[in-house]
Amino acid sequence: MSDCIFCKIIAGQIPSTKVYEDEWTLVFKDINPVAPTHLVAIPKEHFAAIHDVPAHKMEAMQKFLEALGTTVREQNLVSGGYRVVINSGEHSGQLVPHLHAHILAGRDLSWPPG
Ligand code: AMP
Ligand code: ZN
Repeated sequence: MSDCIFCKIIAGQIPSTKVYEDEWTLVFKDINPVAPTHLVAIPKEHFAAIHDVPAHKMEAMQKFLEALGTTVREQNLVSGGYRVVINSGEHSGQLVPHLHAHILAGRDLSWPPG
């Protein structure tokens, strides 16, 4: 989508600090980190949220999960533990309507989330 900030990051029109990229997925550092490690993983195809991904596009979700696993291994987050968060909709606090997963690590993360 032309007015989507994350689509612009994928297109290289907005800079980002990339930590992982493949054909399907991009992972970059969150511009406003809330943990010592705070990454944002996005599928390169624009979906507004999980519930907007059609059944015939599930290959993108499989690749997305594979990329998350590769990223946490490559970034050495496995031993200390990490959290993956996908906000969707108003109550969740989702700001960017392009499906994305936050990867949070490097400190104790409270549960339940606020
Ligand atoms: P959410 O509230 O789940 O929609 O999260 C959106 C996240 O994207 C926030 O944590 C923002 O800090 C992050 N963000 C927004 N714009 C950028 C950007 N240009 N580069 C990196 N992270 C961004
Ligand atoms: Zn987008």
